Amino acid sequence: MDFSLTEEQRAIRDLARTFARDELIPQCTELDRLPDGEDSFPWELVERGSKLGFNALAVPEKYGGSGADVLTQCIVIEELSAGEPAVSKVYSHNWKALFGLMAIATEEQVKRVIPGFLEDPRYCISIGITEPNSGSDNSLPYSGTLSAGPGLTAERKGGDYFLNGTKQFIAMGAQAKFMTIFARTDKSVPWTEGTSGFMLFPPKEGFEVGRLHDKVGLRLYPQHDLIFNDCRIPESELLGVENEVHAGRRDITNIGTLEATSTALGIARRAYELTLDYAKERVQGGKPIIEHHLIGSLLLEMFTRLEASRTMMWRSATSIDNGGSDDPKLARATKVMTVNMLNFVTTRAVEIWGGMGVMREAPIEKIYRDAIQLFHMGNTNQVNMLKAMDDL
Ligand SMILES: Cc1cc2nc3c(=O)[nH]c(=O)nc-3n(C[C@H](O)[C@H](O)[C@H](O)COP(=O)(O)OP(=O)(O)OC[C@H]3O[C@@H](n4cnc5c(N)ncnc54)[C@H](O)[C@@H]3O)c2cc1C
Repeated sequence: MDFSLTEEQRAIRDLARTFARDELIPQCTELDRLPDGEDSFPWELVERGSKLGFNALAVPEKYGGSGADVLTQCIVIEELSAGEPAVSKVYSHNWKALFGLMAIATEEQVKRVIPGFLEDPRYCISIGITEPNSGSDNSLPYSGTLSAGPGLTAERKGGDYFLNGTKQFIAMGAQAKFMTIFARTDKSVPWTEGTSGFMLFPPKEGFEVGRLHDKVGLRLYPQHDLIFNDCRIPESELLGVENEVHAGRRDITNIGTLEATSTALGIARRAYELTLDYAKERVQGGKPIIEHHLIGSLLLEMFTRLEASRTMMWRSATSIDNGGSDDPKLARATKVMTVNMLNFVTTRAVEIWGGMGVMREAPIEKIYRDAIQLFHMGNTNQVNMLKAMDDL
């Protein structure tokens, strides 16, 4: 397998690396300290990165975007996440949302969103799936349990749907200019056969953004509750075909899974690089701690796991670029391995930094806090394993 990057891929990787080093790292450390995530959303940086081309990177050329392939998307996400994963997530979440939209919407519906998205460097999109009582359920086809899956209902009356219920943990709920919302249109069948997607352009009567969740990490990437109280959505904003949202989204699972994987990889790389530098400078027993073999071997293990995850991620991305998702378990297995690697690497980083590793004056504690978010994004390890096992 050829691992060399094209000239175009190297150029966009270098642009992302420079943006991360010169702008994201210096500014986001301060923003992360602000007590309330509402005030800390990095609007200026999001706008700046959009103007450099990151928000439009994955939008297909036929819609006016740059049409980057999946490998290029992964490379850019790794670079940006090594600077500030929250800013990287704004772009990559938008890409994921747009791919989701393209998978289920009509051409006319896609065209109602994309031009505004490309014109506005602050355009954010939300995907509303999770609810207080349904998280992993929304990714597992519980065929015999009608209560599993979304509880938020969309009841059809005449030519309109009326949405009632609450979504939870929805990224950029207060910032989004467009949302896709999953709602139950038929509760007499399993959710996989009775759930539909809806378009929502806030503000809207009957729709309210609820509380902001106060997270320990990725604080610049906010999650909100979304509250629906007889919110009227016209039939023209039902995405694609009623009850078929699950079937329509299957093809984009691998891209969504690799999006979270490359975020994890970027965070792990930054932890490793900072720790390598620290171990070369920090002297104990008269020599840099990297020369104490127990520390040197830990760093080597961090390096090895990081490289193994990147290799697997590039292989997964290339397999999608070369003709679709030829092996559905590959991306899921890659995500599980990478998240485990990330939490291994960041824990070892905190260990190698000694007491300074948990001090807020040093950079490692933030990376450690950010890392644990990845257990829950792009599906949990357990969900990814269950689904990958089905394909063995
Ligand atoms: C930073 C962040 C951003 C997010 N952004 C969004 C967003 O934009 N939109 C959105 O809709 N959601 C979002 N979420 C929610 C996320 O998708 C859910 O947290 C995730 O799907 C897990 O659901 P849960 O939290 O309800 O956990 P639960 O489903 O309650 O799971 C709890 C534990 O049980 C395990 N488990 C559950 N079922 C099984 C089973 N059958 N077998 C074995 N183990 C099982 C899980 O793996 C997990 O370890 C976000 C979450 C976070 C932390």
